[in-house]
Amino acid sequence: MPQCLTCKSNYEPFISFGKMPIANGFLTPDQFDDEYFFEMKVGFCANCKMVQLANQPDRERMFHQNYAFFSSTSSRMALHFKEFADSIKQKYLPSADAFVVEIGSNDGIMLQNFAEKGIAHLGIEPSANVAKVAIQKGIKTTSEFFDEELAGKIVVDHGKADAILAANVMCHIPCLHSVAAGVKILLKPEGVLAFEDPYLGDIIEKTSYDQIYDEHAFYFSLESVSHLFEQYGLEVVDTIHQNVHGGSMRYVIAHKGKKEISPEVQKLREKEKRFGLQSPKTFELLCENIKISRDKLLAVLTDLKSQGKRIVGYAATSKSTTVTNYCGITPDLVEFISDTTPIKQGKFSPGVHIPVKPYEEFCSNYPDYALLFGWNHAEEIMANEQEFVKSGGKWIVYVPEVGIVDKV
Ligand code: SAM
Repeated sequence: MPQCLTCKSNYEPFISFGKMPIANGFLTPDQFDDEYFFEMKVGFCANCKMVQLANQPDRERMFHQNYAFFSSTSSRMALHFKEFADSIKQKYLPSADAFVVEIGSNDGIMLQNFAEKGIAHLGIEPSANVAKVAIQKGIKTTSEFFDEELAGKIVVDHGKADAILAANVMCHIPCLHSVAAGVKILLKPEGVLAFEDPYLGDIIEKTSYDQIYDEHAFYFSLESVSHLFEQYGLEVVDTIHQNVHGGSMRYVIAHKGKKEISPEVQKLREKEKRFGLQSPKTFELLCENIKISRDKLLAVLTDLKSQGKRIVGYAATSKSTTVTNYCGITPDLVEFISDTTPIKQGKFSPGVHIPVKPYEEFCSNYPDYALLFGWNHAEEIMANEQEFVKSGGKWIVYVPEVGIVDKV
């Protein structure tokens, strides 16, 4: 039985997705034979309420100098991070001589909003290629993994932080105790940690099982986050639901007793209880719903293909790796995946090896159907792709329901 990564209790995984490759491991044919796979199982720890991967590849396999995810490819996310930065400045950084640290700062999409205002900042970004893009934009970045040791070094070199920010990265770090201990050291007495990640409640409600992949070691709820940080004298003082990445939660955390606790925290705590986020039964049901979703999607694709229709994948997201591998979606069902990220183009998708082609190939010869792997950006994508629909094209979606649509 696996041991909980945060409280060490034993738990039984509630689902296995079978063998999975590295979600962002887009590859060339000469790499097919050596492709790395691991068994992707997910479990719920009844003791500390943490939902987590039972095993995860080594971090260096996922985050390195060829990391394929560049945050700034989405204009919607650029706007989201500007709003995130503005709200932190307004609420928590009254003086201009503040120091802000971001964990997992990627290509600088969030920190650019502090840099351009002359606010002292430091990005922590282990994937060297994306860190380089941030540095070229003038954003101070160090290419390292954040942990307790690094937090101590930052304090010595730069002093303590007024705000520590993190988006879509806390859930990536298996050694969360080291992160929490690092936050405790690095944060000024009145400082805040504000981080957001895909929210477990949304994953369950929408059966968005494609949020589950190698990089996401954890699927957080308020309960599991509180349980962890309380062990370090830190507490959740606010929670704000975010309508990005299919539903995320922003947690604001401070040293215990230092900030007033928003009523939103208690409201969310009660909502999680009503919704059964701490009940093993909820995860049994999730497992059933995931299997139903997989079977329906495969049936739709197989049926369209038997009618001779052309299907192309839209956006070679990390999430698409879970869907394609779990459902068995191979190049005989999906001709290619269209993507605008140069590092992915000309390569093949992890595991099932669907070719990834430049976006121009999608536009120059529209398929009958586009399988929307980037469903979390559906509004932005569909608004941009009206010509595809005018040409008679339709979208295949699978979150929250499997279906064929021409708009959201
Ligand atoms: N924050 C950006 C966003 O929301 O678009 C990037 C999110 S990306 C999914 C996760 C980022 O965290 C990657 O750039 C990865 O290299 C970085 N990362 C992974 N482990 C980390 C760690 N231990 N410390 C700091 N960054 C880490």
